[in-house]
Amino acid sequence: MKTDNVKCPECGAESRYRTTTNSGSGHGPMLLPELGRSFWKPIAKFQVVVCAECGLTRFYAEPDARLKLPTADGWLPI
Ligand SMILES: [Zn+2]
Repeated sequence: MKTDNVKCPECGAESRYRTTTNSGSGHGPMLLPELGRSFWKPIAKFQVVVCAECGLTRFYAEPDARLKLPTADGWLPI
């Protein structure tokens, strides 16, 4: 994850913010299926980075979710 970069890759502004949010719910698509932490916590999380100047928004799967990619059902290497 390159959120440590100070400048926005789109406009070069230095005012970016980040938060953590769920990658889905029971009312919409699961964007990171099979990558949740456990049976009881099946929804993986995103770290979201937004540029306050131009609005460029990027989503990054959290490290726990990325570690599951090689063995999770439905995820194929490209
Ligand atoms: Zn920007």
